Amino acid sequence: MLTGKNALITGIANKNSIAWAIAQALHEQGAAVGLSYAHDKLARRVNPLVATLDCDFAQKCDVQSDDEIAQLMTDFGARFGRLDILVHAIAYAERDDINGRFSETGRDGFAAAMDVSVYSLIALARAAQPWMKNGGSIITLSYYGAQKVFPKYNVMGVAKAALEASVRYLAADLGAQQIRVNALSPGPIKTLSAGAFGGFNQMLEHVAEVSPLQRNVTQADVGNAAVFLASDLAATITGEVMQVDSGYHTLGMTMPSHSA
Ligand code: NAD
Repeated sequence: MLTGKNALITGIANKNSIAWAIAQALHEQGAAVGLSYAHDKLARRVNPLVATLDCDFAQKCDVQSDDEIAQLMTDFGARFGRLDILVHAIAYAERDDINGRFSETGRDGFAAAMDVSVYSLIALARAAQPWMKNGGSIITLSYYGAQKVFPKYNVMGVAKAALEASVRYLAADLGAQQIRVNALSPGPIKTLSAGAFGGFNQMLEHVAEVSPLQRNVTQADVGNAAVFLASDLAATITGEVMQVDSGYHTLGMTMPSHSA
């Protein structure tokens, strides 16, 4: 489905990262992939993974640095000549800001969460544009906590709401260049970042119990949905937030199936 397309996937930290599952799924469908990671310490974990994908492009890019974003795109462009698929799988919030009271969110923590989790999508999309010569597909990762309140999601819920609004504004802005911008919104998946949220295992149990499909989502499920959005099958889909959550978001009230 993706033969002949070049993909840049950001946000890989380890083998549990959603970014890694997306990289594998896009590669399986024929895309040539390059990866980026946040800091040098991650190279030790990322490089062995990259080697399994016939991929020779894995570069550090801290998205709080405009210079590193520019360098990433220049180097990707020099290596691949064109960019067709950009995946933004990056988020950050101070631990105190997600697990404390929302009203206690600090000014600096709020700014950092918005910068890393939201502004970086805009900055990456801007830097990617010159290389998206045949149009392209930009995919980011959101969470239902953008739309409804979830315990201990706090500032990240506000950041995801801004991310989803940014998807719509970017889609409108870049549409004339045939660049599509969408978000995938998976249910909870145990990853490095997810570990920062208190009560995460209870969330997993709850989703498995009450969601229409009565199961949790895997990284591979998200990878498959990313293949669709990246492919020409989704040629007229842009500005969308696609829930990949076993149907959890359709529920108005959650009841354990055994009490029905
Ligand atoms: P993860 O920890 O594997 O990935 C998060 C990535 O963000 C890491 O690779 C981290 O290095 C990167 N990052 C943080 N600060 C950065 C910076 N300054 N520059 C560059 N990269 C930076 O966890 P994940 O769960 O795979 O998260 C990927 C995306 O999926 C995030 O946007 C997350 O909010 C979203 N998401 C996750 C879940 C879940 O339950 N795991 C659910 C819905 C959405």
